[in-house]
Amino acid sequence: PTDLNTLADEYLRLAYHGLRAKNKAFNATLHTDFDQNLNKVEAVSQDLGRVLLNLFTNAFYAVQKRKEAASEADGYMPTVSVSTRRGPNDTVEVRVRDNGIGMPEGLQQKIFQPFFTTKPTGEGTGLGLSLSYDIVTKGHGGTLAVESKEGEYTEFIISLPA
Ligand code: ADP
Ligand code: MG
Repeated sequence: PTDLNTLADEYLRLAYHGLRAKNKAFNATLHTDFDQNLNKVEAVSQDLGRVLLNLFTNAFYAVQKRKEAASEADGYMPTVSVSTRRGPNDTVEVRVRDNGIGMPEGLQQKIFQPFFTTKPTGEGTGLGLSLSYDIVTKGHGGTLAVESKEGEYTEFIISLPA
């Protein structure tokens, strides 16, 4: 039995502090909104932790890219949020949202394919989301979905049986 609030909180901070240790200039606002009455899920927590770590790493990358493209006057605030809630039909949802570069629709179809990446060589393997997809679906009987708008935001939704 895994408490997703604790897991998500731990891995958000792990990802953020890991990136800050490598790049002192990196900064982002972290938001958490946890349902305190969330049911536990049956999970291999290290595996779900890897999924969360990948989603957070992608989110921080996306806000960093948008910040690089923004001018000072834009007042852009890189923000990564994680929230939990009860979903429909006895499910539990974890949402990872960033206000980064977003994705055009054509890209959203491809991101779960193994080795698909838009990152320069050495910065991405393109395996994170395909592994994450397998862990959530085959490993935990859940679903992994994405919503995104280019230049605005991306949100990944993990849904698991409660
Ligand atoms: P990698 O991070 O190694 O590129 P992933 O499988 O984790 O591989 O992601 C595949 C691609 O999906 C990324 O290269 C990027 O184009 C896109 N992507 C994933 N997460 C985000 C995000 N939060 N915002 C924008 N694009 C994203
Ligand atoms: Mg990745």
